[in-house]
Amino acid sequence: MPNRATGRQMALAAMGLAAAVLTAGLGVPPAAACCEDIEMIPQEYLGRYVHQHAPGEKSLTVVPVDIDPLGADPMTPWIVHVSTLNVRSGPSTSFSIVGTLSNGTAVSGIYNLVVESDEEWIEIEWNDGTAHISRTGVYRIHPTNQANIDEFGNLPIGQELVNRWWGVPISYEPDDLAEVPWEYTAQSPGRVYLLREEVVEAVTALIDAAWEDGVDFRVSSPYRSGPSQQTIYNRNVQNSGLNQRFSAPPGHSEHQLGTTVDFSSPRTGRFLRNEDPEYEWVAEHGESFGFRQSYTADNIEETGYIEEPWHWRYWGEEPEVSDGWLLY
Ligand SMILES: [Zn+2]
Repeated sequence: MPNRATGRQMALAAMGLAAAVLTAGLGVPPAAACCEDIEMIPQEYLGRYVHQHAPGEKSLTVVPVDIDPLGADPMTPWIVHVSTLNVRSGPSTSFSIVGTLSNGTAVSGIYNLVVESDEEWIEIEWNDGTAHISRTGVYRIHPTNQANIDEFGNLPIGQELVNRWWGVPISYEPDDLAEVPWEYTAQSPGRVYLLREEVVEAVTALIDAAWEDGVDFRVSSPYRSGPSQQTIYNRNVQNSGLNQRFSAPPGHSEHQLGTTVDFSSPRTGRFLRNEDPEYEWVAEHGESFGFRQSYTADNIEETGYIEEPWHWRYWGEEPEVSDGWLLY
């Protein structure tokens, strides 16, 4: 398999986007490390797409990323979600700091992937020139999500537009969250797991059907609020580097939709893997209950995340968004 950055660079080249080259003194990116929030994710998935380059390599190639099948304005502002975000003269922490942005600041810019480091940086206008901020400190709301929230309060199921590049407000919380009966979860009684009402019905029906077939898996991660994702993400970036791909930025996690679950198996005590019979069962039957695996081996370039056999999103019977969007 080609390394991830090269694969995406090729995909973007196919889209007719040009790469630019900058120079900097780069160090070796930190290796991915495990931490408490992701202890159930199989080790072989962690850091799988971290791009390693030779120590002392000097050049940086940036490729603009602009993926939105719905055609939102690529200059839609990014919002700072960390207390202080450094503005740098180039797309790497080895460049000098030329200023800072504070929490809540909105800023427009071009989203670049740095091929050598596999980091994402946003090129912004700065003092009559340009400067760069790390994507790890900002999030961006898709205008369609905002319009739907304004009109309906809750995002219509199957029409939520959430991926690495587009998200929902960190404050968004569906108002129809309901408790998943504990026997369908990987938790002991007393710990409350929430999903949207319709999804609780769907996931319990799915697991009931699996049980009838003698297969057992449970809901291991349910709804997660924007602020809790913010805490998890900031810690994962700190521990595993700016190019980690297993943790979604706040506002960009499907778990915040209340429609998405991670499944684990009581048999193995960990998240589902491709080779597990429990995974094979969900892969065969999940879609007839409205669930699809979000991150597969086939859409790594489009989603920007690692393959996740345990992560399933409820789209309802008839997703109203385009097939193109389903890739994300
Ligand atoms: Zn997940």
